[in-house]
Amino acid sequence: MTASIIDGAAISEQIRAEVAEEVKARAIAGKPIPGLATVLVGENPASHVYVRSKHKACQEAGIVSFGHELPENAKLEEVVDLVKKLNDDPAVHGILVQLPLPSGLDEEKVLLAVGIEKDVDGFHPINIGRLAQKGRDPLFVPATPSGVMYLLNKTLPNLEGLNAVVLGRSNIVGMPVALLLVRANATMTICHSRSKDLKDITRSADILVAAVGRTEMVRGDWVKPGAVVIDVGINRVEDASRPRGYRLVGDVAYDEVKEVASAITPVPGGVGPMTIAMLLRSTLKAAKLADA
Ligand code: NAP
Repeated sequence: MTASIIDGAAISEQIRAEVAEEVKARAIAGKPIPGLATVLVGENPASHVYVRSKHKACQEAGIVSFGHELPENAKLEEVVDLVKKLNDDPAVHGILVQLPLPSGLDEEKVLLAVGIEKDVDGFHPINIGRLAQKGRDPLFVPATPSGVMYLLNKTLPNLEGLNAVVLGRSNIVGMPVALLLVRANATMTICHSRSKDLKDITRSADILVAAVGRTEMVRGDWVKPGAVVIDVGINRVEDASRPRGYRLVGDVAYDEVKEVASAITPVPGGVGPMTIAMLLRSTLKAAKLADA
């Protein structure tokens, strides 16, 4: 079997175009243009790249973006004060605090300061708590997990009763993906660095989501024939033939697994581009919530 490729790049383009269309329609109707504020603390080069690309994507979708930067040694009160000011700013519908924060800053305290109706990243403990509870709905869901679910829903007609295995239990990817799969009535197993006999567990999965940050850890013989495989991993591998000296690979050994799975996301071009598309959607949703 050769897997079909789940084209996250094309799907995310479509979502971004839909968001841009709705933003344009809002402008024509005289409704406020959605606004996203980013809070970037410190010098983490990857975070600077991510935030830049979020601003660029906002611009392309017609969303207004406001960039706020604080130094590496910023105090908790400074960050919290900035977030509170953004909570009170009617031009700002969504607030994104870029993670990770510099060590020493209490991430939970900063995230608690974000108004839940502006928590477009979905990391406020109330939004995450609601995600975990039956009968409750978060206002926002974290962007990467939301992108994973979007791709799964496009690929499979019904997730109900399927065996899903998520490799990784981080706050930003693994755990919210697992919670979303439970909400979709899949039967969930979460694996982590202390899990034993991983291969036996992953071979039971109809849906396998890898979010471990370990280059090509999932091999062909880890995968049940016909499974749908979503690779969230983004790992750099040295490659002198590339202009940057490296290439990006996932947590899944793509060439092996595509011969076993029924569908698979590539890296790059799978989950990665979905993250920004889902953030734009959440920002639009925040603006709509503010209309009400
Ligand atoms: P993380 O915070 O480092 O978490 C990694 C998770 O994997 C942890 O739960 C860890 O277990 C588990 N793990 C590590 N080694 C393992 C092993 N050998 N066997 C089983 N489990 C293992 O990473 P993350 O932030 O979730 O990110 C995961 C990957 O996704 C990274 O490659 C990251 O770059 C990528 N990512 C992509 C996007 C995107 O937009 N596509 C967004 C975010 C992250 P413990 O809990 O026991 O430590």
